[in-house]
Amino acid sequence: MDLNRSAQLFERAQAVLPGGVSRNTIFKSPHPTYVSHGKGCYVTDINGVKRIDFANNMASLIHGHAQPNVTQAIIEQVQKGTAFTLATELEIEFAELLCQRVPSFEKIRFVNSGTEAVMAMIKTARAFTQKSKIAKVEGAYHGSYDYAEVSQTASPATWGDEHQPHSVAVARGTPDNALNDVIVIPYNDVDKALHILNQHKETLAGILIDPISHRVGMIPATPEFIDALYQWSRDNQALLLFDEVITFRTSLAGAQAKYNVKPDLTAIGKMIGGGFPVGAFAGRSDVMQVLDPSQSPLLLPHSGTFSANPVTMVAGLTAMRLFDQPTVDKLNQLGDFARVQLTDTIKKVGIKACVTGAGSMFRLHFKAQAPQHYRHAYTNTLQTQATKYLLNYLFDNGIMMINTGSAMLSTPMGKKEINYLVEQVTSGLTLVKD
Ligand code: PLP
Repeated sequence: MDLNRSAQLFERAQAVLPGGVSRNTIFKSPHPTYVSHGKGCYVTDINGVKRIDFANNMASLIHGHAQPNVTQAIIEQVQKGTAFTLATELEIEFAELLCQRVPSFEKIRFVNSGTEAVMAMIKTARAFTQKSKIAKVEGAYHGSYDYAEVSQTASPATWGDEHQPHSVAVARGTPDNALNDVIVIPYNDVDKALHILNQHKETLAGILIDPISHRVGMIPATPEFIDALYQWSRDNQALLLFDEVITFRTSLAGAQAKYNVKPDLTAIGKMIGGGFPVGAFAGRSDVMQVLDPSQSPLLLPHSGTFSANPVTMVAGLTAMRLFDQPTVDKLNQLGDFARVQLTDTIKKVGIKACVTGAGSMFRLHFKAQAPQHYRHAYTNTLQTQATKYLLNYLFDNGIMMINTGSAMLSTPMGKKEINYLVEQVTSGLTLVKD
């Protein structure tokens, strides 16, 4: 086996892919490691090295790799055809399952990614309210759509006053309209957020919020913050837009069930695709009605060549049927176990670090105290280097995590994998400390 095969592939890739990659979030140290195959919670690279997969394709593989029932369902569907211009019964069955599980889901529409789901949700909110602005939380990631991206990479040099965060552009050439139409609010600070929202009462179509945003620091929103946004949206004819593309895994009805709130619309994705590209947005019947193609005039044209394709539908349906209450409970308990064990080991090592997260997701921070919002969680050069060092150490010792220091559990995992993670984090942190 040629041990430099990944390095060679990366060199080849750089000739045809910008930066040698197809997505910026790929784990690179110093080049991507190319995969041979995955099974359960393990991934084997092309050099035959096996690692526990705590990244799970950026939180999308709730059952890990090649889950037998999902695989069988996909194979059967592939043999019958993969995409049709006509509809299939599968999309109705999947829509029924999701709408039965989530009280706020009266109607749902499937798309092909979380980005698309958030984009379509924002457009639906605009079409329904006939207003153009949205508000979003500073630093929150909602996919690659101009409006959803605003402030996603805010830094001390650009983020402005904490009472009035700037609408920071992510990409060169972002239209001024996108910046003007996206209002940025601080996270978990009711007074500051309401003060800003009140300045845009007449023009806000909706407030977009991920209740446990990974990029903000994987810090659960406080119930007071969610309640305040919900109430403000009722009082000002705006919609509450939940992005549960990641957090949907926290219960059968997503994080909204924990907050006991019914958002007007919710975007989901990732795990509901059973390993295939997917997104969906769902919510109030009267709001979703803007998508009804039989209306005249048509309020919101919306299409997608591969939306609700039968392979994704059957993969997702099978994966979500397996994601039942005992399974969610077990996964969340494993998350609690991991957070407690990691916090314990941080204390024992005596390093300035902490763990945030909820349910089956957690994130390590090189911060003495759990951050409360994006600016707290923002890492300086030293903290960024420490995270990179630790993740590289873990990677070299059989553990793969997301490059922010986050982990997403999958159902084939048990205490054995968590114990191994804790053991390796302990050694890695000891080295970082030294
Ligand atoms: N929203 C959130 C909260 C996400 O974390 C992501 C992806 O990481 C997205 C939206 C975009 O989803 P996708 O990568 O499927 O386009």
